[in-house]
Amino acid sequence: MTEDIPAIRLRALAKSFGSVQAVDHVDLDIAAGEFFSMLGPSGSGKTTVLRLIAGFEQPTSGAIELFGRDVSASAPFDREVNTVFQDYALFPHMTVLENVAYGLRVRGVGRAERHERARAMLDTVQLGGYGDRKPNQLSGGQRQRVALARAIAVQPKVLLLDEPLGALDLKLREQMQVELKQLQRELGITFIFVTHDQEEALTLSDRVAVFNQGRIEQLGTPAELYERPVSTFVAGFVGTSNVFDDAASSQLLGRAGTHSVRPEKMTIADEATRLDADHVAHGAIVETIYLGSGMRVVVDLDGGVRVSVLEQNDADRAHDDVRGSRVVVGWSDRHVVALHHAAQPH
Ligand code: ADP
Ligand code: MG
Repeated sequence: MTEDIPAIRLRALAKSFGSVQAVDHVDLDIAAGEFFSMLGPSGSGKTTVLRLIAGFEQPTSGAIELFGRDVSASAPFDREVNTVFQDYALFPHMTVLENVAYGLRVRGVGRAERHERARAMLDTVQLGGYGDRKPNQLSGGQRQRVALARAIAVQPKVLLLDEPLGALDLKLREQMQVELKQLQRELGITFIFVTHDQEEALTLSDRVAVFNQGRIEQLGTPAELYERPVSTFVAGFVGTSNVFDDAASSQLLGRAGTHSVRPEKMTIADEATRLDADHVAHGAIVETIYLGSGMRVVVDLDGGVRVSVLEQNDADRAHDDVRGSRVVVGWSDRHVVALHHAAQPH
């Protein structure tokens, strides 16, 4: 395996269901060993792409290559990928150990060896000693780990994960995120992770593809997506942004077009303060929202544009956080990002 051959290559991959174009001519290379995420709102085509890669769906047109081999027409079992589903899909009548050993059994691995390997997998996901239980005797987080152990037991080259943490509560989710990342690093398997949670995608991934209506709207590292969104869709979906339309851009930036500025790149101070910033605008506080680590201050600028400013939580604020207080907001020109107005037609 050379480094140049991607683990996954999608070529003009398309899938329609009747009149619905679920996947709209996607081109994508995913490198071996990458933690890659597909991020997008519900219905944007993420699951369909995953099912096409796994072989559960046939493409309407286009091709899928796994490590340089065209698998577009191959059966699911003939592809070196495995899938972890959101609902775990564990076999309720089997023990945890039997669940994890299942894929090995199907592949004809003998009983002693498959149980030994399944036990090792359970250790890997920190469930050693749980092998004799049934899935219904486990918590949600433990079940998710069993599903993960079952998927990696057969040593797939690529692991497809479809919103695997979606059913877990926040605390457990955050814990599992860390474990997933560690596991991926340890095993060196290519992970293709589907989520609608932008924070999850940003924290876990080497690269992220942002999906919108069956197409990749932007592909990049988490930092690239966050710092340089290309469209209003990405600017709004990945984090929060102040988006200035043409009129607001002319008024506040002195130039036409659509632009965005992140709330944490703006500074705010009492109206009397002279802010040393490329762009300065005056206004009045509409709302302040306490976030613990900081404060979100919503300001109506005098020209009629509403902005959201994120302040660090430090005690000596230079202004009152009172509704109606007059303030000045400033930001630097290098934090202004030019956006395409909408998805680019293809
Ligand atoms: P996501 O995973 O991003 O939420 P999906 O890939 O599940 O999106 O769906 C993309 C689009 O394709 C949606 O409009 C969905 O309703 C449609 N779709 C998905 N699977 C089917 C199917 N089996 N039959 C008909 N339409 C489908
Ligand atoms: Mg889905």
